[in-house]
Amino acid sequence: MKCTQCPVLCGADREQNSGYCGVNGIRIAKYYLHPFEEPPISFKKGSGCIFFCGCPLKCVFCQNYELSRNTRGKNITAEELAEIFKKLEDDGAENINLVNPTHYLSDIEKAVSIYKPVIPVVYNTHGYETIENLERADAFVDIFMPDLKFIDPALSKRYTGRDNYSQFALPAIRFMAHKQLVMRNDGKMLSGCIVRHLVLPLASYDSVNIVKFISTLPPSVYFSLMGQYTPFGKIENYKELQRTITAREYNKVLSAVEEYSLKNVFLQDLDSSEASYIPQWDF
Ligand code: SF4
Repeated sequence: MKCTQCPVLCGADREQNSGYCGVNGIRIAKYYLHPFEEPPISFKKGSGCIFFCGCPLKCVFCQNYELSRNTRGKNITAEELAEIFKKLEDDGAENINLVNPTHYLSDIEKAVSIYKPVIPVVYNTHGYETIENLERADAFVDIFMPDLKFIDPALSKRYTGRDNYSQFALPAIRFMAHKQLVMRNDGKMLSGCIVRHLVLPLASYDSVNIVKFISTLPPSVYFSLMGQYTPFGKIENYKELQRTITAREYNKVLSAVEEYSLKNVFLQDLDSSEASYIPQWDF
């Protein structure tokens, strides 16, 4: 069957071959209780992250390059994925956090039909999504946690080879933004939407436009501004990406957050821009 699980629409028969996203079958690099997601997600015991391999977006600066591009990991079945849901739950995970799930939607649907987690399910996506697939995901997802990487098509073309990222990501995020916000009294998120944005060197003008876009979403949406960019991936031909962001660049985006009166905001320290922040892969 031809795959249409992402806007690339490469049409690969994933049962036989890898698609543009680089994988067939289900391939994961790690699953564990991750303590460093946003506070309502990691909460007390950690978010039950499952890191999927391959990616249809292929950012040159990917902070998880080893698994997104080199597909470092191991293949598992949908039954084994369902067992991982159960195991993370038994280990006390606050939620099941599907990291980079887009190109595995059908497999995840199958795993959820075998075992539907009783804890919230988080859909942790790069944002390059079709509405049709998000409507399918909406059936089992409690918390949408998309990135909004770029608005400027020139930036997405330069760093992903695709100039239509925001053409898909902006309506996709408007769709995800309508997930009803349910916060427990103690601050744990049970349902809702958190939009993340990583500020890139020399691109704070685009980050300001992203803040402006966020201000047009329902006020229940949380915004997570990340200053942790670390030179990583295949960036030897991208001189501007070979440094972390400056305090001036970050402060420009912070000023926009204030100017557009965003209320539900998580801010990350610039100090967290170091490689040690990236997990060690297990498989
Ligand atoms: S998910 Fe992968 S195989 Fe499917 S259309 Fe996208 S790139 Fe192609």
